[in-house]
Amino acid sequence: MHLELLHLLERVRSRNPRVVVLTGAGISAESGIPTFRGSDGYWVVGSRNYMPEEMATRRMFASDPEEVWRWYLYRFGACRHAEPNLAHRALVDLEATLGDRFTLVTQNIDGLHRRAGSSVERTHCIHGDAAYVRCANDCGIGVQPLPSINTPKIDAELSPETCERLKCHNCGAWLRPHVLWFDEYYDEENYRADSAIRAAARADLLIVVGTSGATNLPMQIGTLCLRQGAAIIDVNPEANPFAVIADRAERGCIVRGSACENLPEIVKHLAIKPE
Ligand SMILES: [Zn+2]
Repeated sequence: MHLELLHLLERVRSRNPRVVVLTGAGISAESGIPTFRGSDGYWVVGSRNYMPEEMATRRMFASDPEEVWRWYLYRFGACRHAEPNLAHRALVDLEATLGDRFTLVTQNIDGLHRRAGSSVERTHCIHGDAAYVRCANDCGIGVQPLPSINTPKIDAELSPETCERLKCHNCGAWLRPHVLWFDEYYDEENYRADSAIRAAARADLLIVVGTSGATNLPMQIGTLCLRQGAAIIDVNPEANPFAVIADRAERGCIVRGSACENLPEIVKHLAIKPE
């Protein structure tokens, strides 16, 4: 660990800090979950290629729910076989040390933080969780586990039985993935957006891990923390907007490397009790 980071962690640690950790696709890529960017993200319907920005929309679901479900079930079949990694586990340790002074905000819908053992109370999945569904008609059944369905083949239609399982038991409408679509807005009820902002507003330290900052709530969290003078650490093998924010922060540090290699050590240094 380089000296600058070590000093920053020592100074932050001595003040019983409130810590917000913001994670993105990079932390899950190390568990083998594809990011589905670029050509990996294509989905072919008829003779046309669709990008995630077109498939993961309320508009697409309204016009072709079966196709959207096929795409989700295929893409996120991979999540069930992936395992949480050392970086996910390090954040479980950090939560155990900090208790209520810890908040995890994740853009990932793969459920790996939950499966690693991060608590539901202190984990805000601001883009939802693909292991859950809710009624597309919003009839009041709340959020429920995704019914157990085998991952469909890439070129197969959904079976009538599968379609039946994806219907609301209360009103008969389609169930929808419990995830934020590209043409929808963040909210508190489903995605705990206000809670995430509130935690950021009180943070003494923001650790950003593997996120490219493409969406607006994470950027809002970054700029809020910068404005209030929080220490900011960006862990990412690649350049990204949060590195720019960390660079501008009075107490900021850029760690150009992988989450699995760096996060456990950062957590270890935050967890040492002051003498
Ligand atoms: Zn319903």
